[in-house]
Amino acid sequence: MSDFGLYLHIPFCLKKCPYCSFYSLEGRMDLVERYVQAINTQLRFCAEAYRNHLRPMTSIFFGGGTPTLLPAAALSRLLSKCLERFSCADEAEISIEVNPATVDRSDLAVLRQAGFNRLSIGVQSLQDAELRQLGRPHTVADAVDTVRWARTAGFENINLDLMYGLSGQGIQTWKTTLEHALELQPTHLSIYELTIEAGTPFARMEEQGTLFLPDEDTVLLMLEETQQLLMQAGLQRYEISNYAQPGYQCRHNINYWQNGEYLGLGAGAVAFFNKTRFTAIANAEQFCARLEKGQEVWMEKEKLDREAAFRETVIMGLRMTAGVSLAALTDHFDLNAESYYSDTLHRLIRQGMVRIVQGRLQLTAQGFLLANTVMAELV
Ligand code: SF4
Repeated sequence: MSDFGLYLHIPFCLKKCPYCSFYSLEGRMDLVERYVQAINTQLRFCAEAYRNHLRPMTSIFFGGGTPTLLPAAALSRLLSKCLERFSCADEAEISIEVNPATVDRSDLAVLRQAGFNRLSIGVQSLQDAELRQLGRPHTVADAVDTVRWARTAGFENINLDLMYGLSGQGIQTWKTTLEHALELQPTHLSIYELTIEAGTPFARMEEQGTLFLPDEDTVLLMLEETQQLLMQAGLQRYEISNYAQPGYQCRHNINYWQNGEYLGLGAGAVAFFNKTRFTAIANAEQFCARLEKGQEVWMEKEKLDREAAFRETVIMGLRMTAGVSLAALTDHFDLNAESYYSDTLHRLIRQGMVRIVQGRLQLTAQGFLLANTVMAELV
């Protein structure tokens, strides 16, 4: 039986980061209690309404926003409600995103005790000047303390999120951040290039010429440096932005990239099962109000046709270094990828962007550098 994930979205943030375009709420702690109630109502509703479509959860992920702005006891209660309402597979991966400066030693102990077994820590940089520039409310010392406390609390599986391509960042500072991160011995690293999203303060700074982003060649060198250092440290790249020690790949995210099924709870969350994608209203107040009145929170329900689902599975699967199995695609969709993409696929193979290895379609090293362009041809 394939994996089934549960995602729970907590949209509150201490402070809006100037590069962030996600739906999140700064300074609305007044709404927290109501939101937790609403999530409990949605949990009850989904467990009843979709019982024929749900399978035992193989992963649970509390993400945000900043989930750890909620008290650890409230997060523990939410997790136990999830475990009461939905059956959970043995050895399920249960993750929570943590921002340094929003947890202390005892919070992490409470979370571990409650059953969370994986932490994803939003470190972003291990240079204080870069953290200030990113508008992060924590320091390097806070991040290091969080990792140390997590270990003491019994978390073995720890991801650190890091960003490169920052304003004023050079190869050497990035290398120093990576080396410092590796000293913390994470089992997993998620490494993202800073992208400037329309409508954010960083986009305005870029327009005004006050953001000094590294040029393309420097960014490429940063990526090369990353791959080399991480490989030496035993962390293998398994997805465009994700690296893990063997056995520590993120099960929850792999399920997304394999276009597997999951239930998403909370404002703005997405769910996908029974060939349908559901999107909840991306407004926490309206989300609460609708649940309080017993109303539907899904604003969109999109039934994917066979070809759309097939193309989506190919695109998502190509994000992973293992790529996507051609035989599994044929079994599942009754479509042959080589005939379906025909000339386009053969051209991409000739151009050295994709390859077929042991029956799997994969991006090449060159294809990974130009992943968006390649995927746009296959979508
Ligand atoms: S903490 Fe995360 S979700 Fe919140 S504003 Fe910053 S980047 Fe966005």
